[in-house]
Formats: sequence, C-alpha cells, structure tokens
Amino acid sequence: MKNILRKFTTFTHWLLPQSCFLCGDTSIQPVCAACIADLPYQHTACISCAQALPKTGVCSDCQKQPPPYTHTQAVFSYTYPINKLIPAAKFNQNLAILKLLGHLMAQQLTTEPHPNVLIPVPLHIKRLRERGYNQSQELAKCIAKQTGIPLDYKACQRIKHTDPQTGLSRQERQTNIVGAFQIVRLPKNWQHIVLIDDVMTTGSTVKELALVFKDAGVPKVDVWCCAR
Ligand SMILES: [Zn+2]
Ligand SMILES: [Zn+2]
Repeated sequence: MKNILRKFTTFTHWLLPQSCFLCGDTSIQPVCAACIADLPYQHTACISCAQALPKTGVCSDCQKQPPPYTHTQAVFSYTYPINKLIPAAKFNQNLAILKLLGHLMAQQLTTEPHPNVLIPVPLHIKRLRERGYNQSQELAKCIAKQTGIPLDYKACQRIKHTDPQTGLSRQERQTNIVGAFQIVRLPKNWQHIVLIDDVMTTGSTVKELALVFKDAGVPKVDVWCCAR
C-alpha cells in the first residue's frame, strides 16, 4: 500500500502544476521557462579556468601560473539567482532543482571531443552521510545520461575530511585541500577526463584533484562546473 501511495504521489507530482521556485508562477518544472531563460549564463571567460573575462582568452592568473587542468567550462555565473538555486539543491535536499541544473549543464556544455569519463568531485564519506547525496555526482549523472559519456564515481575518493572552504582565503583553501584525494583505480585507456563540480570559487579543489590524476599519468584533465 505504502509503495502504491508513493508511486501515486510521484505520478501526481509530475501531473499537477507546481510553482516556480524563483517567481512563484505556475510551472510544470521546479523553475519556470521564463526564469530559466533569465538565468545568468556565462558568456566570455578564460578558457583555462572559466573566470569571467570581457573577451574569451586566457586570464592573467593562468598566464602567470598555468593550472593543472587544460580547459574549464562554467555554465553560469555564480550570481543571483544561481547563488540561490545551488545552495537549495545542495543543502536543502531539493533534488528536482539539482536535476534541472544538470540538465541545463548538459544542454549548454561543449562536450566534443568526448572525454573518456566524467569524474564528479568526491565528498568525504562523513559529509556524504550528512547530506545523503553528492551534488556533483547528481549533476554528472544528468550529463552522462544526456551525452552518453561514462561516469565513474569510484575511481577516486576523498580521504581527508576538511572544513567547508567557504570563508577561507585562497591560501587557506589551498593548504586545507592538499592530500584530500586518493585514486582508487585508474584504467589505462583514460587519456582525457573531465572533473564535474558544482561551484568553482578559487579553483583550489579541482586544482588538487586534477594534480592527483595528472601525477597518476592522465595526460589531459578538463573541468566542467555548474557555476563560477
Ligand atoms: Zn519563474
Ligand atoms: Zn584563467
């Protein structure tokens, strides 16, 4: 009975109009089409680190010190209302918003040439238990489903439980994250991998993860994130 009831609720959830998370208008999706069209899509940015630039190119930071990853794509700028949607998806169990963001990422990203695999930034087991899911893994699942690129969330694990990076300086973030990741398995045919992250702030997390894979012999590591 419980099962039938759950199925029925899931069914009606899709059948009945909901209200848009942002404007409150009736919508069949968690965010209405008008609000989706108004989202802050990122236009011109650094091809290495996805920092917004007036013209597509390589930013001065990446020129001075090239990062371990080759290309980064960020679908959105981390401004309103993306800075409201991602925390809702990450901390308030709003998986419908997370799925929508993953779907929009898959639509907007340039995915050619296809990498061998998508690797979501892993969470430490302690944080995963607290949250119940890994937001980057959920985004990667949507991208994998829509593009056919395989997803591997077991290749690497987070072995260091770090304090949240929010509120830390660039230097503190970098020190905090050193030694946080460990490769579990690495197939020999991986020549080009893509790290999937939700929000890239200073880039210290993906930098450390990219370094771990490069040190293990992967020649090319790119980053696709939801927002920067
Ligand atoms: Zn709306
Ligand atoms: Zn850059």
